[in-house]
Parts: sequence; structure tokens; C-alpha cells
Amino acid sequence: MKYKRILLKLSGEALTGNKTTNIDPDVLEQYCEEIKVVKEQGVQLAIVIGGGNIFRGGQAEALGIDRVQGDYMGMLATVINAMALQSALERHGVFTRLMAGIKMEQVCEPFIRRRAIRHLEKGRIVIFGAGIGNPYFTTDSTASLRAIEIQADVVLKGTRVDGVYTKDPLKFPDAVRYQTLSFQEAYEKNLNIMDMTAFTLCQENKLPIIVFDMNKKGNLLKIAQGEEAGTLIR
Ligand code: UDP
Repeated sequence: MKYKRILLKLSGEALTGNKTTNIDPDVLEQYCEEIKVVKEQGVQLAIVIGGGNIFRGGQAEALGIDRVQGDYMGMLATVINAMALQSALERHGVFTRLMAGIKMEQVCEPFIRRRAIRHLEKGRIVIFGAGIGNPYFTTDSTASLRAIEIQADVVLKGTRVDGVYTKDPLKFPDAVRYQTLSFQEAYEKNLNIMDMTAFTLCQENKLPIIVFDMNKKGNLLKIAQGEEAGTLIR
């Protein structure tokens, strides 16, 4: 395996799949199968899952809800997804721990960096819920920050496209996928890989990001093995 410790960022929005419910059990199942295979290869895995399928802070004001309150609602939404993912993984016989950036003792542990690392060393998958616990951040920033804290080798950003393109591949058939990009190039070309906070954290800490298609079977394993199956930003 090329990477020994990975931080996997999963979008909350993708959890909806083709269903009208917030969480599509087929998507959860597929995530678990991908994750389990990688875990079985001895890779240490930490996961950050978004909350966009349930609530985003950005939606708050239109609903007459205070923005900061909305961000906390978004953070709680990520905990719901994290709990669903935890349960699904455990059904697959994978040991997990859920650690949250907001204290909620009845459902999960608080985030304690050293304890998170210990869980990983013991072969447990650590899911980070509730973002970093502060409003005005995103789960992308959470992924970057936690990855740095736990000294992950790479951030894998699972999306519905297989990498970063010169332009929107859904609109322009002549769009070309980048295999690798430097942080500087990605910035200059204004390629929206992650929000700026998340992106800058990775750049300043020399933490590579790989954007890849999480819906393609076997892709996560390929990437963990170091195969070229997405866009590497370093
Ligand atoms: N959020 C926050 N602080 C954090 C992480 C998340 O305030 O540290 C809020 C923010 O409002 C965000 C929402 O939680 O819109 C859900 O997360 P995100 O939009 O990143 O989820 P995704 O787009 O990945 O599904």
C-alpha cells in the first residue's frame, strides 16, 4: 500500500443517491464495501463525512434562521450521517469510533487528537463528526485540519467525478482531466477543489489531496495502492 494513514472525505450530498430520503442505503452499502477492502489491507483510515444532504449553514438565512445557528445545524447534520456510516460499517464487521467536534457524550467521544491516533493504531476506523466544532467552516476544512493533526499521508476527496478537469466535464465534452496539479497551478487556474481554508491548510502543510470518483467500484483501493485514478494535487 502506498498510503499507510488516509483521511477520506465523503460528501453528505452524495449519500442521497437516487432516493428521495436523505440517506440511500445502497450508497451507504457501497461506501462500506469500498472502505472495508482498504481497511483489510492494513491501511489506517479516518473519515470525515459532510452534511449537505440534510442541512447546510448557507441555507439558513433564506429560512429566517441565523447564519451561525445554521452552521451548528449543519454540524449536527454531519453527526447524523456519521452515525449512519458508523452503524453500516459495524454491520460489515469493521470496528469504528465516532469522535465529534461538539461534545455529545451519549452518542460519541469528543475529539482528542492523541486518542484518535491511538484508535487508528489499534485498527479502528475513526469517523470525525460535527466538523471542527466552529461555525463558518466546512467539512472540507475539517478534513484538512484533522488530516494534519493525525499526520495522515493524504486527503482523499471522494466525489462523483473522477478528478479535476480543465472545465466542467458535464457541460464541455472537450474538458480534459488533470493527472497531477501543483497547489499553485490549482490556485492560479481557480479550480475549485476545496474551499480556500481547506486548500491553504493542505498547501501550507504539504499534505497532498487526491480527488477521485467514490462511486466507481474498486477506486478507493486503487488509490490507496498508489494507482493513478483521479487527480493528485501536491
Ligand atoms: N459546518 C460548520 N463547521 C464545520 C463543519 C461544517 O459550520 O467545521 C457546517 C456548515 O454550515 C456546512 C454544514 O456544516 O454547510 C455541512 O457541511 P458541508 O456543507 O461541508 O457538507 P458537504 O457539502 O460535504 O455535504
